[in-house]
Amino acid sequence: MKLLVIGSGGREHALVWKLAQSSHAAQMWCAPGNAGIAQERLKNGSPVECINLGAEDLPKLLAFAQEKKVDLTVVGPDNPLALGIVDLFQKNGLRIWGPNQKAAQFESSKVFSQRFMEKYGIPTAKAGTFSDAAAAKKFTASLGGKCVVKADGLALGKGVLICGTVVEAEKAVDEIMVGKAFGAAGAKVVIQEFLEGVEVSLHALCDGKVAKLFPTSQDHKRALDGDQGLNTGGMGTYSPAPFLDDARLRQVGDAILDPWLRGCAEEKIDFRGILYPGVMLTKAGPKVLEFNARFGDPETQVYLQRLESDLVELLDASVNGTLGKMELKWNPMPSVCVVMASGGYPGNYPKGKPITGLDDAALLSGVKVFHAGTALKDGQVVTNGGRVLGVTALGKDLKSAQAAAYAAVEKIRFEGAQYRRDIAAKAL
Ligand code: AMP
Repeated sequence: MKLLVIGSGGREHALVWKLAQSSHAAQMWCAPGNAGIAQERLKNGSPVECINLGAEDLPKLLAFAQEKKVDLTVVGPDNPLALGIVDLFQKNGLRIWGPNQKAAQFESSKVFSQRFMEKYGIPTAKAGTFSDAAAAKKFTASLGGKCVVKADGLALGKGVLICGTVVEAEKAVDEIMVGKAFGAAGAKVVIQEFLEGVEVSLHALCDGKVAKLFPTSQDHKRALDGDQGLNTGGMGTYSPAPFLDDARLRQVGDAILDPWLRGCAEEKIDFRGILYPGVMLTKAGPKVLEFNARFGDPETQVYLQRLESDLVELLDASVNGTLGKMELKWNPMPSVCVVMASGGYPGNYPKGKPITGLDDAALLSGVKVFHAGTALKDGQVVTNGGRVLGVTALGKDLKSAQAAAYAAVEKIRFEGAQYRRDIAAKAL
């Protein structure tokens, strides 16, 4: 099979790495990819080729897939999905993995998701959806100001403001709806009650009819140790998270996915891709905070290190609507991913810093270094983004996986590198 992967982050490197291990992969491109992706090789020895096309350049991606006669395109990030890349490729007779534009609304519109959850009885926070700032403010007052104000549309993961007082909440509403801090994405908002508890990431692979739940994982969103500092795209993950045992995970999964599948059938939403609910385990039970409509980053890195099944076969079945017959096999060994980021991230950061020690880190047993913001400059791997590397390791238990990931991190150097020292600590 000829495969094209779209995206350039750690998630896409993990996807490419795992797809490349399949005997079905005959040739693979990644648009635009990164320095780590460009070093991957398929089982048959052919190199993965990075092509200089942006993930949102839909017409050029389509032309490329047509010219190369790509058999399956795999979409990593949310933006091309929200722009309708799946609909466009399908209209042109090409096979592509990911939800179509209507199904991608679970991520591209928080108002859509919140209303869907309420309509179909999916456990979620007490919430309201608003297109009027005065009504929104009134609602935040009814929650005593302890709430979370969320811009409706995609805002690079930044459109969520956590508030503790009525004054803060009114300021958040003004910022998003009046000041248009996130542009058109903030024309509407969802306001949820603030929930306390442990947060877990769930993933389910869907084929329009069935949803196959993954094991648990947990992300670390804040920049600094102890969940301090600014929100980021994610500074590290581990899987499985010990807060749900297998039986409880199945229960929680069913409580979310059964009504979700019913709702999709009712609304004629044909969801083929990954549904990734962010879930808060509260004293009153699990509550969905939001849905994403693609693999998490850096959840993908730990999931795919643990996945034993052939990913080409799974994604193919997801596209074909034949997932019901498939089994997802997981390595019982836990995996930990520590993100190494550029100094200054999630604020401004420099690019082009040489990275050393990658070969030494790769020699450690159980370790895979996934690249995110990296590029090749005169034969040297250099930093090229906020999140630079996802240093990922399997271990016989969580503690060993954590130790292996940090041993690899210690070998890698670039000027200004920052990373959290407490990834997976909550579980130990
Ligand atoms: P979201 O993009 O909606 O997942 O929100 C980003 C982050 O904000 C989540 O990962 C949570 O840590 C936090 N968050 C979102 N909604 C709530 C809520 N209702 N209560 C508490 N924290 C929340």
